Amino acid sequence: MSHLRVENLKVSYGSRVAIQDATFTVEQGELCVLVGPSGAGKSTILRAIAGYAPIERGDIYVGDTHVNTLPPQDRDIAMVFQQRALYPHMTVWENWAFPLEAVQRPKDEIRRRVAEIAEMLQMTPFLDRYPRQLSGGQQQRVAIGRALIRRPKAFLLDEPLSGLDAKLRIETRSYIKRLHGDLGVTMVYVTHDQIEAQAIGHKIVVLNNNLVQQVGTPDEIYNKPVNMFVAEFLGSPPINLIECTAATEGDRLRLSHGPHSWTLDPARSARIRERLKDGEVVLGVRPEDIRLHREPGEGRIPAEVYVTEPQGHEMIVDLSFEKLILRAKEDRERGLGESLKLNERVYLDFALPRCHVFDRVSRVCLS
Ligand code: ADP
Repeated sequence: MSHLRVENLKVSYGSRVAIQDATFTVEQGELCVLVGPSGAGKSTILRAIAGYAPIERGDIYVGDTHVNTLPPQDRDIAMVFQQRALYPHMTVWENWAFPLEAVQRPKDEIRRRVAEIAEMLQMTPFLDRYPRQLSGGQQQRVAIGRALIRRPKAFLLDEPLSGLDAKLRIETRSYIKRLHGDLGVTMVYVTHDQIEAQAIGHKIVVLNNNLVQQVGTPDEIYNKPVNMFVAEFLGSPPINLIECTAATEGDRLRLSHGPHSWTLDPARSARIRERLKDGEVVLGVRPEDIRLHREPGEGRIPAEVYVTEPQGHEMIVDLSFEKLILRAKEDRERGLGESLKLNERVYLDFALPRCHVFDRVSRVCLS
């Protein structure tokens, strides 16, 4: 049985629906990331799990226990908020000992557990410091330590890296992932940052407009997005979207954009045709699925180099194609990127089996 279950959860504040209908499970020891734009309902789900949001409908289970009506302190769940809410007048040691003293644990057990957490979070040299004497990243570790020391059944983190600078974000992110691996604790982690979500999550729940859009592994979400929102939200640079008209040609579907067209294989064409309402579709092509050539050829479309942008070992090439700008991502050593000149004519082909076809109105993925 899943360790944490959220079933058909609905939360409203007055007439404002914060989460409409959320269902997902988190397995024992799994790190589940809730990701989506601001206002999507991510924090509301965490607060509902922890016991701080008014549940209008639906159920939350921790293990076998139905926790909807349990007060927060009886749920055995720890939450780390965006604001690192530490006691400023207490040292690191005291900040950590406090939750255990509050439940009257014996003094030697408190000493042992504080020492363990300090070791694990590499904070032993800082135990006597006050929060103001620590860096942002160290303060965040104290906040995490304070939640962990209670050994909760599940651990909830709400944008724990916001407020840290870019380098520290990446360091703390890998730190949390490592910590999770060492402890095997069930974690639910909220972020609006899709790169962070893909870097850290075993399972990703994508939210938008107060609804769960898709639940899956990072690879599933990236490679098999259920709709255009998910396809656009994950990936950097974002997926290219080309409006097309679909027409049947024998057992194949031909997608046309102006004078240009792409023909899909019969199996895929049949699958799409079953779900196709009218012929108005959108072809989604990831930047890494565009190949650049200097010569024209079968299935290649002409485009002009608009801008090139080196990014480490990769080159992002912006290409003007009809009225669109398409973004391609190339390896700097193997691709053409390095040698391209502005406004140069190139020819593109797409790794069609990896592309997605969406319905233009419902935005659902058809392939
Ligand atoms: P996210 O974490 O994805 O940014 P939230 O869960 O914080 O989103 O918010 C979802 C929606 O619910 C937003 O429209 C937000 O304004 C609203 N909301 C959240 N908390 C409250 C509250 N306490 N009172 C009224 N509206 C709220």
